[in-house]
Amino acid sequence: MGLLTFRGGLHPYDGKELSKDRPITEYLPKGEMVFPLSQHIGAPAVACVKKGDRVLVGQKIAEAGGFVSANIHSSVSGKVKKIEQRMTVSGNKVNCIIVENDGLYEQAEFTPVENPDREAIINAVKEAGIVGLGGAGFPTHVKLTPKEPEKIDRIIINAAECEPYITADYRCMMEIPDQLISGLNLILALFPEAKGVIGIEDNKPEAIAKLTELCKSEDRIEVAALKTKYPQGAERSLIFAVTGRAINSSMLPADAGCIVDNVATAIAIHEAVTLGKPLYERVVTVTGDAVVNPGNYKVKAGTNAAELAEAAGGFKVQPEKVISGGPMMGMALSTLDVPCGKTFSSLLCFTKDEVRACEPSNCIRCGRCIEVCPAGLMPTKLSEIADRGDFELFDQLDGCECVECGCCSYICPAKRRLTQSMKTGRREALALRRRK
Ligand code: SF4
Ligand code: SF4
Repeated sequence: MGLLTFRGGLHPYDGKELSKDRPITEYLPKGEMVFPLSQHIGAPAVACVKKGDRVLVGQKIAEAGGFVSANIHSSVSGKVKKIEQRMTVSGNKVNCIIVENDGLYEQAEFTPVENPDREAIINAVKEAGIVGLGGAGFPTHVKLTPKEPEKIDRIIINAAECEPYITADYRCMMEIPDQLISGLNLILALFPEAKGVIGIEDNKPEAIAKLTELCKSEDRIEVAALKTKYPQGAERSLIFAVTGRAINSSMLPADAGCIVDNVATAIAIHEAVTLGKPLYERVVTVTGDAVVNPGNYKVKAGTNAAELAEAAGGFKVQPEKVISGGPMMGMALSTLDVPCGKTFSSLLCFTKDEVRACEPSNCIRCGRCIEVCPAGLMPTKLSEIADRGDFELFDQLDGCECVECGCCSYICPAKRRLTQSMKTGRREALALRRRK
C-alpha cells in the first residue's frame, strides 16, 4: 500500500538536520517575564492578579474571558510589576501581565486528577489553559466537547511536523513518547467509539519505529506513516490522508468524525491530568543558519525571544530574517523584543531574506501554483481578483478555501506574492460574508 497523502503540495528544503538530533534542554529565563492576555483564538483572558502580588510557578494569573478562551498561568515565581500593552509576535500590542522573575521557581501546588472520567478530564484541560500548540491556539477544552461526541470515530495526532526546520515535536516523540501515548489515551477516554491514529511523515523513521513499538499493546491506537510532503500537517490535508474524508472551510474536523491535536497538545493533556500541571512551558526549536547552537529548548511561556536566541548561543552574524513558526506559514518578526507565548513553536533566524531578495514579475502562466495548491484553487487568478478588490467574486470562486499554506508563492518562478494576496482576499471576503 502507498503512503497516505493528499492532492497537491510540494517538497521544500527541510533544514531539520540542524536541530533534529539536539536533545531538549531546559532554559530558565532571567528577569522580566511578559504574559500576553491573548495567546489563543477567542476572547482575551482577564487578569486575576494585580501589581505587587507575588505569584508562583503554575499559579493562575488570568482567567478565561469566555467559553472560547483560555486561562493563563505564571511560568516563574516573582512579583507582578504591572499590566500594560506590549508588542507580541502578531505585530500588535496587547495587554500583558509583567512579572519580575525572582529566579527561585517556587511552585504552586499541583493536584493530579484522581478519577479521570469525562468531566474531570475536560475540566483539567480547561483549568490548565491548554490550547492547540501546533500554532492555531484554539482552546482544547472546546475542541474536546463537540456537539455530537458519539459521531467522533478518529482522534488524529498531528505528528507530521511538515514545516521545514522545526523539530520540537520530533524530539518529544523521541524523548517522551509515553507521555504522548498517555495524552492520546486520555482523549480516547472521552470518545468510546474512536480509534487513535498518530500520523507521522516518513522522513522521521526513528519516530515511526519507536511509536509503533510502544503502541503494539495499545488496542485503540495505530501509527500511520504519511508521505513527506508539505503541507501534510495542515488539518484538512491530514484528515484526508488518514481517513479519505474531505472537509471545507465551513466545516469542522468534528463534522468528518475527527478530532485533531498535535503532539505537544497531547503531552500537555497528559501533564494536566496526571500531574495537575498547567500549560506554562513548551518545547521550542531555535534554529537557522544565523544561530550559533541550533537546538530544541524547553521554554517557559513569557520568555523574551531575544533572550531565547542568546540561550541558543546568540548569532554568528546579525540575521536578516527572523520568523516565529515555520518558514512557510510563520510570522516574520520585526523585533526580537516579544514574549514566547503558548503557540510559539520555533524561532528561525536566517542570514538571508530570500523573499525580499526577489522582485515579483509578470505571471508567465506556467500553472505551477495550480498544481501545488492543496485546496485545488487557481492562485494565479484568485490573487489577481483579490488585488483588484473584487472580494465577492473571490468568494464565489472559492478563494476562502485557501489554507494559507504558502505553496503557491514558494513554487512561483515569477516570485509573485500570491499567498499574501490570498490572505488579504480571504480576510476581506470573510468579513463581507459576516456583514451580509
Ligand atoms: S492558494 Fe492558498 S491553499 Fe492554495 S497554495 Fe496558495 S496559499 Fe496554499
Ligand atoms: S506559478 Fe506564478 S507564474 Fe506560474 S501561473 Fe502561477 S502565478 Fe503565474
